[in-house]
Amino acid sequence: MATMKRIYLDHAATTPTHPEVVQAMLPYFTEAFGNPSSIYSYGQEAKGAIEEARTKVAEFIGARSEEIIFTSGGTEADNFALKGIAYANEHKGNHIITTAIEHHAVIEACKFLERRGFRITYLPVDKYGLVDPDDVKRAITDKTILISVMHASNEVGTIEPIGEIGKIAKEADIYFHSDAVQTVGHIPVNVDELKVDLLSISGHKFYGPKGVGALYVRKGTRLVPFVHGGGQERRRRAGTENVPAIVGLGKAAELAGQGMGKEAERLAYLRDKLIKGLREKIDHTRLNGHPTRRLPNNVNISVDFVEGESMLLNLDLEGICASTGSACSSSSLEPSHVLLALGLSPEQAHGSLRFTLGRENTETDVERVLEVLPGIVSKLRAMSPLLKTQQ
Ligand code: PLP
Repeated sequence: MATMKRIYLDHAATTPTHPEVVQAMLPYFTEAFGNPSSIYSYGQEAKGAIEEARTKVAEFIGARSEEIIFTSGGTEADNFALKGIAYANEHKGNHIITTAIEHHAVIEACKFLERRGFRITYLPVDKYGLVDPDDVKRAITDKTILISVMHASNEVGTIEPIGEIGKIAKEADIYFHSDAVQTVGHIPVNVDELKVDLLSISGHKFYGPKGVGALYVRKGTRLVPFVHGGGQERRRRAGTENVPAIVGLGKAAELAGQGMGKEAERLAYLRDKLIKGLREKIDHTRLNGHPTRRLPNNVNISVDFVEGESMLLNLDLEGICASTGSACSSSSLEPSHVLLALGLSPEQAHGSLRFTLGRENTETDVERVLEVLPGIVSKLRAMSPLLKTQQ
């Protein structure tokens, strides 16, 4: 049986590891296997590789090497930032400001802190998913110790006014964290321009390996260590380092630094072609997220009268991988908290599809989606109880 060409359009979920990243990692599984804490040459070789990766990640975001702490990924970086700041600064106050559209890694860490006596403000967003910096300003109290706002939404791709919010945080002398998991490696990220004190990074979202990430922590920031044990990562995150993964993260940052701007332009062209085509070929659709302030690779649409899951399964039969606005991984099929925060009804949220483009995608892939999705939608609508109740 001939195998169907698969079209992967879910790069916000994860990206394939770049072949050059794999090549860079390989020696650290074999001949350069040493423990970076050992003082003999094997150890020093591994330590050197970690420090080189740290410099690459730091340079990529305009930071200093000593401000980068390697973690097991974006989730850990977010948890570290929130809990680390909360517990190091509870003598100053117990109030944290965040938004209703954060990733679960931030929201659940906030809920954890809420159960332990911290007070959390979840700011609303407008219909495009934008946070209003004035809302941030108004939410600040004399007990506020941290503001955490994501750089761009993993679901709808809206890019937040982080620099403006950072300015407000600085003026009020409050720590500012941004989850930049979806932006690092895709659009320019500079910690000074964004005016952040902490910033989360994840390797597998920009062609690095899974299970590695970093937290940027501005010099002078008070933070409680996340993992206690040995003295690794300046005593802030103990445990023998995942040397191959860290080397891979460094390589991914280096590669992204070389071609990011051109790639963003190419993807934005494909994104706009897909959005335009979907709107023209399928009636009763709407674009979710901001029309212009959005990630270059993100398309999120709601299609009325159909379930996102049904569209996904039918697309999968055609070899196309996308994602929907329901947290199907939790098997609860809850509508996305992000789409609800944008003001969509649960039905509209359930009928949403997210396509996120990446480096292997071409115009042919976009054309293929435009060729098959209208037929899938018509077929599903013909069977849809949702449509019957609306007519
Ligand atoms: N934050 C955002 C915005 C994300 O999109 C993700 C991944 O989906 C994470 C955090 C979690 O990152 P990781 O998969 O590296 O734990």
